[in-house]
Amino acid sequence: MVSKKHWAPTASVEVGEVRQSETGAWVVSGRLAPNGICPECGASSRQRHGWRRRRIEDFPAQGQAVWIELRVCRWRCLNLDCRRRTFSDREAAVATPYARRTSRQAQLLGHMAHAAGGTPAERLLRRLGIRVSDDTILRQLLRAAQVVPRRARIIGIDDWSWRKSQNYGTIIIDLERRAVIDVLENRDVATCTDWLRHHPEVEVISRDRCGIYAQAARQGAPQAEQVADRFHIVQNLRMAIEEQMNLHGRATGRALLSDADNISTAQNLLKSRLAHRKSREEIFRTISALRQQGLTCSEIGRRTGFPRRSVAKWLQFETPPDRKRAVLKRSSAWYFEEYLKQRWENGIRSGNALLPLIQERGYEGSLSNLQRLLAGWRRAEKQEQEGPTKEDQILAPVRDPETGHAISPVIAAALCIKPRGKFTSEQARKVEVLKEGSPAFTTMRRLAMRFNGILRGRKADPLPAWIDDAIETDLAPIVRFARTLDRDIDAVRNAIEMEWSNGQAEGQINRLKTLKRAMYGRAGPNLLRARMLPLHHTN
Ligand SMILES: [Zn+2]
Repeated sequence: MVSKKHWAPTASVEVGEVRQSETGAWVVSGRLAPNGICPECGASSRQRHGWRRRRIEDFPAQGQAVWIELRVCRWRCLNLDCRRRTFSDREAAVATPYARRTSRQAQLLGHMAHAAGGTPAERLLRRLGIRVSDDTILRQLLRAAQVVPRRARIIGIDDWSWRKSQNYGTIIIDLERRAVIDVLENRDVATCTDWLRHHPEVEVISRDRCGIYAQAARQGAPQAEQVADRFHIVQNLRMAIEEQMNLHGRATGRALLSDADNISTAQNLLKSRLAHRKSREEIFRTISALRQQGLTCSEIGRRTGFPRRSVAKWLQFETPPDRKRAVLKRSSAWYFEEYLKQRWENGIRSGNALLPLIQERGYEGSLSNLQRLLAGWRRAEKQEQEGPTKEDQILAPVRDPETGHAISPVIAAALCIKPRGKFTSEQARKVEVLKEGSPAFTTMRRLAMRFNGILRGRKADPLPAWIDDAIETDLAPIVRFARTLDRDIDAVRNAIEMEWSNGQAEGQINRLKTLKRAMYGRAGPNLLRARMLPLHHTN
């Protein structure tokens, strides 16, 4: 037989009677202990001063609501030395003051909201016999989530897009326990710095290569070791390779011109920009010529390796689609290119001699900027003296012999960083073709494999030599990548030698996005945070 005590919300409640009201709800009348303990002096008292009734909702039974009618007594303190005359029963174990439901029910609502979200929790609870609005449920969740986040020694910090890549939030993960510790509303340096200042226990911060978190970590947690994220490093390398393979066919992501052309034009930004335009003109001419031969867009696409739709779009234009070129400023030596060229031809060739001349004409830039321009000219001159090499001829794009299609830079880059052992036979064939057709690809492939080896070997010592060699290649995107590594060298070294990375952040970010979508418009930062953090189960 079930005894009355099964109806008690906590052991401190003594149940007197259980009855069912006309509406079907269960009403449990109960009272607390038959004596009170004075909170001031600890004396026990059985002398009642008065009492009141408190009605609180508890777990439902048999699909019906259960109401606890609790008799709360006020007692007299019999200790004459005590300052306190009367005191009330302590009901905290049953319910918080003024709450309409027992603490255990309130917790259940919090857990439901955490697991299912407001509206689904409301429906589920209704089926169980708890009628409660989703507002209440969410309020309960927020209360449950107000627990101070756990301290973590090793954290991962990453961003996630809050609204279609417009606003970004920050997610902070305890990498040791594999749990989210906080969700921040934005990714400002100030916000992150502030968070880190409040968490001096952090010893290691794994972060992506975007400068915001590096800066925040420097300012907010100078005690912590920073670790660049391995995944992002490899991504950046892949993107640099793609950019290199892509220098000329940017609009469509396909390489139409040779690497040789890339190499000679990559020497400086302006030149590559001009070359980019040049190559677009060339592509356009080729396509127009094929069109005049009466070929269809699909056929032109097949022959040139461009998607049919791009071909069709391009043919609508009278002139090649141009892109906005950056306007040169007086702080750039290129602003004075024409004048410098004259002086150069007249035999004034040192940067130190040329600098005052352009400064007179309003140059606001540095000597090193000027030197870079001159270095490009020197190289070009040297190449000229050595005579035209076979690299100066325009080579055909690298094509897959099986399909006849040009191999896209995206695929080339992905293959470039992939270990040989993981190739399918088709991929191995493509890599061979790319190596044959593109010296730059061969160089980058060698570098990428060495880089993989360094990452796998967990030893950062070979890294500086790698960076030097990468800069030596003169392939602009690779040089840029190597320089960023160099600037962030400590964190990159840690990435190689320490086991921590932000790999687990991705899963958490996906969960966060799912939650956000499931919560429709109501996913404010507080609610999202509450649902992302693990609830601390109290019992
Ligand atoms: Zn007392």
